[in-house]
Amino acid sequence: MRQPEASGVRSPGSGTAHELQTDNDILKFWASSAIYEKLKEKTANGEYFYFCDGPPYATGSIHPGTAWNKCIKDVICRYKRANGFRVRSQPGFDTHGLPIEVKVEQKLGLTNKQDIEKIGIAKFIGECKSFADTYVKIMTKEFGRVGVWMDWESPYITYSDSYIERSWATIREADEKGLLFQGDYVLPYCTRCETTVANYELEYEDVNDPSVFVKFALSGKNNEYLVIWTTTPWTLPANMAVMVHPLYKYAKVKVGRETWIIANDRLEQLQELFGEESTVILGTVSGKELEGMKYEHPLADLIRKKAQRKVVLSDEFVTLEEGTGLVHCAPAHGQEDFIIGKRFGLELFSPIDKSGKYTGEVAYEGMAAFDANKKIIEDLEARGALVRKMTITHRYPNCWRCKTRLIYLKTIQWFIAISKIKQTMLNELEKIGWVPPYGKERFREFVNTAPDWCISRQRYWGIPLPIWVCGNAKCSQRKIIVSRKELGSGNSNVELHRPYIDKITFKCKCGGEMHRVPEVLDVWFDSGNAIWAALGGEKYSKADFITEGKDQVRGWFYSLLGTGCVLHNEAPYKSVLMHGFFVDENGEKMSKSKGNYVSLEEIMEKFDADTFRLWSLSSTVWDDLKFTWVGLKEAGNILATLKNIGVYLARFYKYAKVTDEEVNWLGKNVEDRYILSRHYSTVQKVTEYLDRYEVHRALNEIILFMVDDLSRFYIKLIKGRENEGSHKVLYHVSFEMLKLLSLFTPFSSERIYQSFFRKYEGAESIFLLDYPKFQYTLKDTRLENQYIIAKAVLSKILDARMAGGLNVRRPVGDCQIVTTSAEVAEAVREFSSVITRLTNVKTIAVAEAAPKGGSYIEQPGDRFTACLNRELSKELVEEGQLNELRRRIQSARKEMSLIESDRIAAYITGDNELEGIAKKYEAQLKAEINAAKLHVGVAAKAAAFTKEWEIDGKKVAICVEKEK
Ligand SMILES: [Zn+2]
Ligand SMILES: [Zn+2]
Repeated sequence: MRQPEASGVRSPGSGTAHELQTDNDILKFWASSAIYEKLKEKTANGEYFYFCDGPPYATGSIHPGTAWNKCIKDVICRYKRANGFRVRSQPGFDTHGLPIEVKVEQKLGLTNKQDIEKIGIAKFIGECKSFADTYVKIMTKEFGRVGVWMDWESPYITYSDSYIERSWATIREADEKGLLFQGDYVLPYCTRCETTVANYELEYEDVNDPSVFVKFALSGKNNEYLVIWTTTPWTLPANMAVMVHPLYKYAKVKVGRETWIIANDRLEQLQELFGEESTVILGTVSGKELEGMKYEHPLADLIRKKAQRKVVLSDEFVTLEEGTGLVHCAPAHGQEDFIIGKRFGLELFSPIDKSGKYTGEVAYEGMAAFDANKKIIEDLEARGALVRKMTITHRYPNCWRCKTRLIYLKTIQWFIAISKIKQTMLNELEKIGWVPPYGKERFREFVNTAPDWCISRQRYWGIPLPIWVCGNAKCSQRKIIVSRKELGSGNSNVELHRPYIDKITFKCKCGGEMHRVPEVLDVWFDSGNAIWAALGGEKYSKADFITEGKDQVRGWFYSLLGTGCVLHNEAPYKSVLMHGFFVDENGEKMSKSKGNYVSLEEIMEKFDADTFRLWSLSSTVWDDLKFTWVGLKEAGNILATLKNIGVYLARFYKYAKVTDEEVNWLGKNVEDRYILSRHYSTVQKVTEYLDRYEVHRALNEIILFMVDDLSRFYIKLIKGRENEGSHKVLYHVSFEMLKLLSLFTPFSSERIYQSFFRKYEGAESIFLLDYPKFQYTLKDTRLENQYIIAKAVLSKILDARMAGGLNVRRPVGDCQIVTTSAEVAEAVREFSSVITRLTNVKTIAVAEAAPKGGSYIEQPGDRFTACLNRELSKELVEEGQLNELRRRIQSARKEMSLIESDRIAAYITGDNELEGIAKKYEAQLKAEINAAKLHVGVAAKAAAFTKEWEIDGKKVAICVEKEK
């Protein structure tokens, strides 16, 4: 298809519209003409809409899933702007924390904290900052590449001073409300990164571990043992208790000369523990009866710590699903153990240091935790305490950044007492609008069980905790800073990061010196403050809308709610759209290490931004998006269909611009009235869906209308007909629909607008136009329902043709629709002209009874039967054969790559009857094939296009030449 001439459409600095071929041309046009800025100006006085961007980590090129996420956001912001809203759409970047520290460590070849301190914290954080800056730039470009319109010139960066200061305010508020505290806590801990990892950051992997059954001898009893099961033998040296369920029954089993205590209901599953031994049950006791019984640690000789270990009760952590119903409890190395330890006043004994190695408290000094498993099992065996050893494959958490296996470790941390604000959080979350609604249920469940929030990290590159404590051991004063100003006049230029801020001290009232605590904030705390911290100097207000992946129920959605309730006693956002994950075609997470990763760059090379956008945005937003090349290809086909509508208009439209008022009296044919009604129904639905943030539903409505109704139905009907009304209707609905489409596929929409509509509409860009108006008077639901019936009738007539071997180019005399349904009868009458044209039937009639006589092919449908007359009159046969001749010549023209205005000479020779028809309808045929000369019965000379055909068993040769 030749590119239509763009008659004088010229944009400043961008050349003519037909130069806007590639995405890059369009990007340059938007930039050089400052279209985004003009759109912002246009909406400067509109109602405020605050969209808050969940900041991606600035650690690498964007994942296609991140591009999808940003495109969803882009649609909503474009939609609101198109409706006149003053949209705040500032992008954000998460620039602190382990994700970046780990990358910088790799870059500098550092492997642990000692290495970092050796090169100096100042150098290290300098590298972290410049690393973040590099990726902020790269990612900005990548987001722009897929057509995301945000304030890329002024993003919020979590390491900036204003961001840090506004995050500090939350800490002070937490302190003033009595929500900030320091305490012991057992948390997942990465021995490589030497820091705790939050529960919601855990990544699980299947691993093989030892599965051992161990017996603990009861004190003061003769050969009586508690049998426990564990998959972490390395925690056994820290054992302080055995938990039993108060209500379970425990059997005393005679095994050889010993008595073992095991839950009654686990005996059957644990038969193999007893080997060949015959077992006799000596009696049962309840868990309650076991409480307080003392036992000897089997490795007591290897542990310096002397303690009285005993049986304690737990009705929440002892189950009968696995193990023996007696649970080994090491309060310093398990979260459940920690809770039970607190409840019963057990000592938090941990022989493991910060690097994950045993201390001198035990004989395993210097060994790494997991490495000691083997030695501990040997020692148990040597002491006769090992009942059985096996291997188990189970899920175990890893460090999400460096993939090291985590251990649970007691640490001292700073917390926000979620327990004290939980009720506010639960009340507030009910006010949030959730899409889809089940997201709220998941969220409620998560908030309900959330523990106190550990906000500190023992790292370097993060927002420093703004807490200064007095060095005087007898003084408990602490001071919380919320701004640079409060650091004192000597520090007006200080870098608000470690190590610089660590040097600042204050004088305490007691005369002592106050030092900053060494911790930095958890990076989730950074993003959790985004809604106000992003605002810089602006006043706080709730965000109207946020959207992120479903994993953020435990992440950002949660941290925002938590900080919002600390600082403002409210949920800081009004609506959430929770989207799915971007996965491969098998539903697996896409990652470089798995080898199933496809980069955005590769997608852009093979397709373009709009294909990616149309494909991803039409997929159900709250389900996982499965990547397939086929899916992208299909999206490309849809896009091509949409582009063809523009091409059609550019070629055939000869009238003036269409005004909104004019539409009311345009197009009186049934297809015109129908397409207008469908159009306005679509505008209405798209608007409703977008108001509910149901992005994919909106886009799919537009696609349905443009592909099914406009391209496959309406344009097919009006093709080749000179009808001002219909062409103007086509102009109107295509133009208005294009405006809706532009929210989703901005590149192609702009291109079609520039190449055709702009010369009529004038606006410099499609994005500077108003949102489509809804015209109620043109919506006709009854007609739309009738069309559905007419379409069913139409398809049954085509089925009848197929059954009778009558291809659709053969005109058929009559068709009767037999029905007793008044609704069907009316629909057929209303759409009769459309049905006859699209089925190539001369007349269609509605009857209550099947036609008598004639030779009818019957095809039953819902509430009707289509009866198609297979008998063809001589005229019908001739007309059919003429159609066949014309089609052959048209296909010759196509093969010769002629365009419509090219004239030809055609030669038809062969069967007498076919020659006769060509002669009889010569004038009509000449016009239809744009022939200057038509020679019938005369063969062409050499060098012409020649092909032989068979029509109804009759041979014919057709030659075509281009006229000079
Ligand atoms: Zn790690
Ligand atoms: Zn003091």
